[in-house]
Amino acid sequence: MSIEQGPIRPPSEAESLFIRVTRNCPWNKCLFCPAYKGQKFSRRTVQEIKEDINFLKEAAVKVKAYALRLGSGVHITRETMELIYRQEPSLFHVAFWLYRGGKNVFLQDADNLVMPAEQLAEVISYLKEHFPTVERITTYARAKTVSRRSVSELKMLQEAGLSRVHIGLETGHDPLLLYMRKGVTAEEHIRAGLKIKEAGLSLSEYVVLGLGGRQMWREHALDTARVLSIIDPHFIRVRTLSMREGIPLLEKVQSGEFQPLKDDEIVREERLFLDNLTGTGYFISDHILNLLEEVEGSLFHDKPAMIGVIDRYLDMPAEKRVNFRLGRRLGVYRYLRDMGDAGRYSQMEALRKRLQEEGRDEDEFLEEYRGRYL
Ligand code: SF4
Repeated sequence: MSIEQGPIRPPSEAESLFIRVTRNCPWNKCLFCPAYKGQKFSRRTVQEIKEDINFLKEAAVKVKAYALRLGSGVHITRETMELIYRQEPSLFHVAFWLYRGGKNVFLQDADNLVMPAEQLAEVISYLKEHFPTVERITTYARAKTVSRRSVSELKMLQEAGLSRVHIGLETGHDPLLLYMRKGVTAEEHIRAGLKIKEAGLSLSEYVVLGLGGRQMWREHALDTARVLSIIDPHFIRVRTLSMREGIPLLEKVQSGEFQPLKDDEIVREERLFLDNLTGTGYFISDHILNLLEEVEGSLFHDKPAMIGVIDRYLDMPAEKRVNFRLGRRLGVYRYLRDMGDAGRYSQMEALRKRLQEEGRDEDEFLEEYRGRYL
């Protein structure tokens, strides 16, 4: 016997325990999103989810029994995990979760608030009863769905133990929301975000850098800043548009209807966005696709420093920017400061010069690499 798992979780939930509440996405039409294409949405019953929680509880008890056998009390050590990996690999993900603290749970999939609030609250309460040491329970939700929920329904979820809602804002520019078939307006995004905060839940909003393309980049930056400045979520997370196989937007790129921005143009868009953004939340670039991962900090305290990072990049000569982009995309650099490592810098210089000699287009080369990540 095992439990159902969904395919997606936010980067910040990498070490959380996953419990699937619904399957796939009830909307599933966004042009830029590859996540659940071809997968049909369905709800799971409260009973099915409770059975998964029971299974996880039993697994946690078994994992702790391994730890006791090894003499480490109830503490899960590397040795405990190695033994479980060898003897009972089906327990490994629960063992890893407990090893990392066992505090966070992420409810899958894309829009769990479609479930009646009483049922979702019942699931969350059941989870808390079975894992009383869990401190954070989070979920994705669509703003459209949240905008239809009352604050008292959201409060019921908060009181049951839900801590945070992750929402894909993507953009605050209405024509772009329409073009990308997001199925929600900027006004509904604002209503949903404010309700979540009013209910006492933590709110994490996602923005897609580059989503406006050449046609709408400026409006995308300005309206997204406007909408998020009104909502003032606890977290703003950016991720960069990626032209991967399987996303419907690719067809529009191939036909020339949508013209994607290049790396440096996306960085300029990010600068305009950040410059116009106000609030008290925390800005995070925690995705491998983002060029400048170190653009991170409190909007209230660190905005000048974050813009400073962007300016430092944009002020570099063109060859150095290419050097950094190559290093970042190939996993040789993580931060701008990594260019100070002479070995890595010359390795990327050699690659840059080779591409130049071969007459290869750097942007195409980088785009190809960017498409390999999610
Ligand atoms: S609502 Fe979210 S998960 Fe569903 S298609 Fe749009 S971006 Fe993808």
